[in-house]
Amino acid sequence: MKIHIIPQPNKISVIDKKAFELHSLCNLNAHKGCNKALSELTEFISDKFCMELLGTGKEEIRLSVDEALTASESYTLDITEDLIEIKGADEEGVFWGVQTLKQIFLQCEENLPEIHIEDAPAYSYRGFMLDCGRYFFPKDDVMKFLDIMALHKLNYFHWHLTEDQGWRAQLLDNILLTEIGAYRSHTNFGVKPHGGFYTKEDMKEVVEYAHKKCIKVIPEIDTPGHVVSAIAAYPHLSCFDRNLNVATHCGVKHDVLCVGKESTFEFMFSVFDELLEIFTDSIIHIGGDEVPTTRWKICPHCKARVKEEGLKSVEDLHPYYLSRIAEYIESKGSKVIMWNDTIRDYMAKSSITRQLWNEEMSEDEVIKQINKGTEFIISFVNAYYLDLPYGLTSLKKCYEYNPCYDGITEDKKDKLLGVEACLWTEFVPTMEKAGYQSFPRFGAYSETAWTDKKEKSYDRFCEKLPFYEYMLSSDGWNFAKEKEASPKGIRKLGSRLYWERRKLCWQGLHNIIDNIKVERKYKGEENK
Ligand SMILES: [Zn+2]
Repeated sequence: MKIHIIPQPNKISVIDKKAFELHSLCNLNAHKGCNKALSELTEFISDKFCMELLGTGKEEIRLSVDEALTASESYTLDITEDLIEIKGADEEGVFWGVQTLKQIFLQCEENLPEIHIEDAPAYSYRGFMLDCGRYFFPKDDVMKFLDIMALHKLNYFHWHLTEDQGWRAQLLDNILLTEIGAYRSHTNFGVKPHGGFYTKEDMKEVVEYAHKKCIKVIPEIDTPGHVVSAIAAYPHLSCFDRNLNVATHCGVKHDVLCVGKESTFEFMFSVFDELLEIFTDSIIHIGGDEVPTTRWKICPHCKARVKEEGLKSVEDLHPYYLSRIAEYIESKGSKVIMWNDTIRDYMAKSSITRQLWNEEMSEDEVIKQINKGTEFIISFVNAYYLDLPYGLTSLKKCYEYNPCYDGITEDKKDKLLGVEACLWTEFVPTMEKAGYQSFPRFGAYSETAWTDKKEKSYDRFCEKLPFYEYMLSSDGWNFAKEKEASPKGIRKLGSRLYWERRKLCWQGLHNIIDNIKVERKYKGEENK
């Protein structure tokens, strides 16, 4: 018989004879260091089979950490007569073994065949990013994503908490960020107001929940661009202290943080101080993407900063700002990640992990930086942006993408930390749409993140789709059907055209008019 597991284990053999029967007399024994796996499995058996294991029979499920397994997060799973044994190299390994066992139960119900699995992750960093800045997703929805991440053996949740359209992280020292910045008057295509935020308690609860699932949480405070919601709350953060409303539409905005004023740095340091109390995994994403320098070019503070710091141009303020912010966060003992979005990337601190999303940085440059010791995470837009229509990134395209950097030296191989799929939500207002965009690409992506490249097979992945759909619907998730996820002909064209409707809310004209206004007002003042 065939047993389907997503992501595909590196080695699996199944003997088609009944070996183990689950019933309420079974023993469930967890050795030291297996508490997370134990509660996960107990909860699953209780939910799925309405069963509480009494432990008086001869059958046993045994969970243990085995030091003989050397690869971090690896595990073995053996189902033999009367015994299910999961051994992990560490706590995580045992936990991922339980995720595999859950999928086996979903297919075989109480009667399991003889199975032997040996498995280990391809990458140490297997991320998923949810954009809660554009549309707010309540805490319970975020936790639902954490559950499905765990089932796919993904271990880093990148929580995009701030955007032009909404600031979602409550910080008591700068309370207006959420009191004003969390609400927009209307959305891209809607006339209704939209908003919401996470209290500090909510965020702590999410972190705690993630930890139970062996997932680390990386909050992202995206600056110095994408900050209109913060400027709406605190105008002094911008050049020219502009009075703006929280952005209603998507598109790159020209009002960014004023990097010339020292008060901007003081403000951001206090934001990160408070954030670090909540997010205990000591990794912070500082954003850094899409930063026009329109305002900086005419702002007296920004121009003075360029002079003082001996920079060549205002463009250099971008890496200058990010490096200073990173230095502050690092001084508190945290790691820092940023998007690779500055053409002056090489000027930013090399200790900052780069998250690649576009192809502006050449492959050679990536290899060069990795060989010098800088860490990278790969999230290429055309493969891993789950909000893109299937007509642009089909299931197959997502599946078949593999980060390939052949020139990395052996001792720096682990600097390519891994991969991350991102769900941006400019056009994803509901969980139903979130599910449709994410699945089945989420599963396809997870096989690059987890499965050894040699063991990947798109055909086999497609064979697993009926089971995958069953698994997703049992958890209440919406998903795109195979035909929709691999559109051809008119369906493909339709999917692309539907996507292009975003151009209807293009902000270019607004930006041009606004830029003229700002220039007239402030250039005039400068000449007085
Ligand atoms: Zn400025």
